[in-house]
Amino acid sequence: MSAPPNTKPKLAVWKFASCDGCQLTLLDCEDELLALSEAVEISHFLELSNTITAGPYDLSLVEGSITTAADRDRIRAVRAQSRFLVTIGACATAGGIQALRNFADIDDFLSVVYARPEYIDTLATSTAISAHVPVDFELRGCPIDRRQLLEVITAYLAGRRPNIPDTSVCTE
Ligand code: SF4
Repeated sequence: MSAPPNTKPKLAVWKFASCDGCQLTLLDCEDELLALSEAVEISHFLELSNTITAGPYDLSLVEGSITTAADRDRIRAVRAQSRFLVTIGACATAGGIQALRNFADIDDFLSVVYARPEYIDTLATSTAISAHVPVDFELRGCPIDRRQLLEVITAYLAGRRPNIPDTSVCTE
């Protein structure tokens, strides 16, 4: 007799240009991670496992900024497979420290840093995920807050908006 189909919501975690710190925040949720892994199918999370389940995914968490043409194509493919897409951390929500390149000439950087800059394939800018695809929610921080991350995941699995204050606007 074959096993019953897995009906758990599918969670995917994706990395773009970043330091991995925000993904590690999820791994730091030691106690809650066990309960989470029982509530969802962790379908794509390369920091955790090389086992990948094909999409579509119910919730995608995206870390990192877009800095190459290949990543620009990849985030569109991720969006197409994701019911909800949440960006996590300053790299994904604002371009990160690597967005300093946006205020200078990328060719100047390449010629100073690399012996053979012709081998480097990069965009002139580092940009937020929301500059390329629609984003359902942006979780800010560097790194993100562990409890806020759990709230985001719990909220989307329950079909509600995360109860997290919008810190994108300074009111003072
Ligand atoms: Fe790392 Fe900060 Fe970017 Fe998160 S936001 S991936 S902690 S640099």
